[in-house]
Amino acid sequence: MNQESNNQGRVVIFSAPSGAGKTSIVQSLLKRIPSLEFSISACSRAPRKNENHGKDYFFMSSEEFKENIKKECFLEWEEVYENHFYGTLKSELIRIWSNSKVVIFDVDVKGGINIKKQLGDVALSIFVMPPSVLELEKRLRHRQTDSDEKIKQRIQKAEIELKDAKHFDVIINNDVLEKAIDEAESIVRKFIEK
Ligand code: 5GP
Repeated sequence: MNQESNNQGRVVIFSAPSGAGKTSIVQSLLKRIPSLEFSISACSRAPRKNENHGKDYFFMSSEEFKENIKKECFLEWEEVYENHFYGTLKSELIRIWSNSKVVIFDVDVKGGINIKKQLGDVALSIFVMPPSVLELEKRLRHRQTDSDEKIKQRIQKAEIELKDAKHFDVIINNDVLEKAIDEAESIVRKFIEK
C-alpha cells in the first residue's frame, strides 16, 4: 500500500485540560511530521492578540455557529465555556484527507472522546496529563491570555476532565515539555506507519 492510501482516513486526537501543554505538543508535531495536518476548528470566542482567522480557528459569532449546527456542518461541537462554542468541521476532515494527510486535532476532553467514539480504529486518542492542578493554574497565569475569572473556570473544568483520562488510548505525562513531545512523536509515528 502506498503512503497516500495509508494515510486516508486516519486521525490523531490530542485532548487535555486547558494549560496542560497540548497545543505546544501539537504545534511541534506538525513541524516534525510532515504527513500531519491540523484541523482548524470553528469557535465563537474572540480571537486573542496573536491568533488569525482561518489559521488558528474559524472565528464566528454564536449565531453563525448555531446556524452551522443546524446545517450539520460539525462532526462534534461543545459549549466548552459558557456561550463559547467550539466545533470540528466535517469540511476540515474532507479537505485534509483529500490531501492524503493525517488529521491532527486539538480539542477539549469531551470532544476527544466523542471523535474517538465516532471514528473508532482509524483514530488514535491521546490525553496530555499535567503534573498537577496547581501547575496548570501557574501555566495559565504565566500565559497571560485569560482573566482571573476565566482561569478559575478553566481550573474547575480541568478537575473534572482529569477523571476522563482513562477513556483515551494513550496518556502522555507532560512534566517536561521536550520529553512529552519526543514521546508523542514516537507514538504518533508508530500509529501512522502501522
Ligand atoms: P482555547 O479557547 O484555549 O483556544 O480552547 C479552549 C478549549 O477548546 C481547548 O481545550 C481546545 O482544545 C478546545 N477546542 C478547540 N477546538 C475544539 C473543537 O473543535 N471541539 C471541541 N470539543 N473542543 C475544541
